[in-house]
Amino acid sequence: MQAAVVTVGDELLAGDTQNTNATWLCKQLTERGVTVERVTTLPDRIGDIARVVNEYHAEYDAVIVTGGLGPTHDDVTMDAVAAAFGRSLERNEEAEVWLETNGGYSAKDLVDGTTDLPAGARMLPNDEGVAPGAVLGSVYVLPGVPREMKAMFDRVADEFTGEQTHVRFVHTSEPESSLIERFQAVQSTFDVTVGSYPGDHVRIKLAGGDEDTVESAAAWLEERVDIFEEA
Ligand code: ATP
Ligand code: MG
Repeated sequence: MQAAVVTVGDELLAGDTQNTNATWLCKQLTERGVTVERVTTLPDRIGDIARVVNEYHAEYDAVIVTGGLGPTHDDVTMDAVAAAFGRSLERNEEAEVWLETNGGYSAKDLVDGTTDLPAGARMLPNDEGVAPGAVLGSVYVLPGVPREMKAMFDRVADEFTGEQTHVRFVHTSEPESSLIERFQAVQSTFDVTVGSYPGDHVRIKLAGGDEDTVESAAAWLEERVDIFEEA
């Protein structure tokens, strides 16, 4: 399964808010064997969101959109997703009932537009807040508040599946440039992919579909590089 993550919010593009939702979602999806092909951050602007959602919906098996769900004027994500599907926004009765039963809100207490979802969408309850999420086709629309987003993702997490990848890190004190030949050798000897992440030392990431193969590759490499020892 291939997925795209779309995070929406002017504050993300201005650098006011760190995009922790993107990192968290990528990790969850990857752990489930889903390949994340795109992470895109967009302003709170209907045209941009609708265009990208439309394109990614055609391209990938699933799209997760987070942010800009509230009923205030600057939250336009639901409008945009509705537009991408050529649907209108309408009051979602199931969302109203859910908020009355579980949130203690009566429909008339809610800010106008709170329960508006694209026509025909599946409603996703918000266990940690008010604004409901929605699923339209394979597009999942989640809130921006990290706590709310995580709780809502947990409700649909099982819908994201793929082949499990096994991962093993090898830490080395050698410089990255000296390792290239050994990277090539380990890849041609074992059915694994090799990632190299330099920092204060180089972290070598070995990944593959078969756990024993990944372990063998790690053992092979550990015999051939200087292991980084934590100070
Ligand atoms: P609400 O329903 O409360 O209005 P919302 O879905 O409209 O929420 P936003 O208005 O976009 O969400 O953002 C709410 C809060 O969550 C803000 O403080 C924002 O900075 C934070 N937030 C939004 N997107 C992200 C993100 N990608 N990573 C981390 N925090 C985020
Ligand atoms: Mg916002």
